[in-house]
Amino acid sequence: MISKRRLIVGAGALICVAGARPAGAALPPISQAQHEKFMRLAIEQAKRNPAIPSGSVIVKPDTGEVMARGVNNSAENPVMHGEMVCLLDYIRLNGNKGWGDKVIYTTGEPCSMCMSALVYADIGGVVFGSSLGGIGDRGIDNIAISAKAVVDAAPFYKGLLLGGVLANETDALFQACKKN
Ligand SMILES: [Zn+2]
Repeated sequence: MISKRRLIVGAGALICVAGARPAGAALPPISQAQHEKFMRLAIEQAKRNPAIPSGSVIVKPDTGEVMARGVNNSAENPVMHGEMVCLLDYIRLNGNKGWGDKVIYTTGEPCSMCMSALVYADIGGVVFGSSLGGIGDRGIDNIAISAKAVVDAAPFYKGLLLGGVLANETDALFQACKKN
């Protein structure tokens, strides 16, 4: 019951971290098939930047509506990671409101900057593919603070955190970028 707990999947392990109130309380139950469908949309975004294939979408899971899109653009601006581009796209299209029943799907585990921004937005959920460690192994510099560590340091945040969705496919994206 992912709607009742915060779930983190890493390296094939499933870890449940119960929150003070149900994580992602504003979210409907989301099936694994739905998670994978939405992650494929993030992968589509990632393919727009083969050098840093960090792509994101923000969706409304109950309707499947895509509310925002983004891909890494740090060549132009160092804070424009895929998640930040997506978050700003969301605000541009929808205003700074309605975060609670939305989920961001992103090909790589959000870095501490992006995860902090998503926590401050109080987004309903964060779902990622490849883990931060795996991304670092593939030659992309990342500060070694996990998304879970950011959430653990923010007890006011009760959103869903889930990793490892379609990780085989997102790992392949990051593996390919190392060769560029
Ligand atoms: Zn980031």
